[in-house]
Amino acid sequence: MKCPNCENEMEKGFVQSNTPIFFCIKKHKLHITRSSDDIRLTNADFDVPNVEAWCCKKCKKVIMDY
Ligand SMILES: [Zn+2]
Repeated sequence: MKCPNCENEMEKGFVQSNTPIFFCIKKHKLHITRSSDDIRLTNADFDVPNVEAWCCKKCKKVIMDY
């Protein structure tokens, strides 16, 4: 995948965490106040929460599909 910023080839890898990762429009004070509009980015299986991602180290940009 080409970086949308600099057009260099991005490195394929994973974004990983010990807990699920969500995208939200509004920053929550507590994670437990998650709203139904939040989008879960990491997978929902029994593995460590992760999602495939592409990284441009030059631009410090990460792109992922969810
Ligand atoms: Zn870039």
